[in-house]
Amino acid sequence: MDAFTVGTARVTRIEEWGGAFLTPELLFAGFDADRYAATREAISPAYLDHATDAIQARIQSWVIEADGRIILFDTGCGNHKLRPGIPVFDNLNTDFLARLAAAGFAPDAIDLVVCSHLHVDHVGWNTMLVEGEWQPTFANACYVFPAPDVEYWDPDNRHKFPDMVGETVNQGFFDDSVRPILDRGLARIVSGSVEIADGVRLDPNPGHTPGCQTLTLSSRGETAMFVGDVLHHPLQILNPDWNSIFCEDAGQARAARRHVLARAAAEDAILVPAHFAGDHAVRIAATPDGFRALPAFA
Ligand SMILES: [Zn+2]
Repeated sequence: MDAFTVGTARVTRIEEWGGAFLTPELLFAGFDADRYAATREAISPAYLDHATDAIQARIQSWVIEADGRIILFDTGCGNHKLRPGIPVFDNLNTDFLARLAAAGFAPDAIDLVVCSHLHVDHVGWNTMLVEGEWQPTFANACYVFPAPDVEYWDPDNRHKFPDMVGETVNQGFFDDSVRPILDRGLARIVSGSVEIADGVRLDPNPGHTPGCQTLTLSSRGETAMFVGDVLHHPLQILNPDWNSIFCEDAGQARAARRHVLARAAAEDAILVPAHFAGDHAVRIAATPDGFRALPAFA
């Protein structure tokens, strides 16, 4: 599924990277071997290599056309970015912008860029290297950043957050992918719930990072929820208390995951996490003891 509609809105998936990323035992804080044995068979091989236990993952962006605006949700890892803390995304050189253009979206046409949160794999294409300088990739866009993350990840504020989890993995991104946007006055820094276009709402769902925000797209009675890293993998639908090892606040992250899953079930929403392989989106059914995934599209 690379494109779908939500009422009159259109959604297009643009992939930056795909491959195997850790095993559940390594990715999930709170991993439980018995629960894994009981739930792994329910996961399609498109999401989990059953021979090696490797999680199948994607880095992908979503273009949302709604209310006459073109919104880019999450911007991947970017090119030429030095990432010593996470070698798999170090100094990438992909044709992401060509894929975006092939889908019909020139960088200058993007009206809004929304980062679900500020992490190395969600902000990368905010900027690109032009004559040795990090320049905004989407020159005509307003970039919507969550206020708590702007404060949290600024290296100048490091002393305020002694218990930071993701410092090593996220080394470098603020200075090459966020500060150049702030310095040019292209950012809109938001707090709380905010409607950024008709039928497009951002809501705070902190935990994975302090500023995690989800985007709800509503049109003509249909709903899609873009939830970033509130969950990383379908195993967390069956085991909603499993956090990733990259979550900053474990308790908040679990609460946010349960909240988002319950809302998706109640609203029959298309749930679009950042890193799902397979169909890249699901619907959620509530069960007597939790949740399970349903196909997003009939
Ligand atoms: Zn991520």
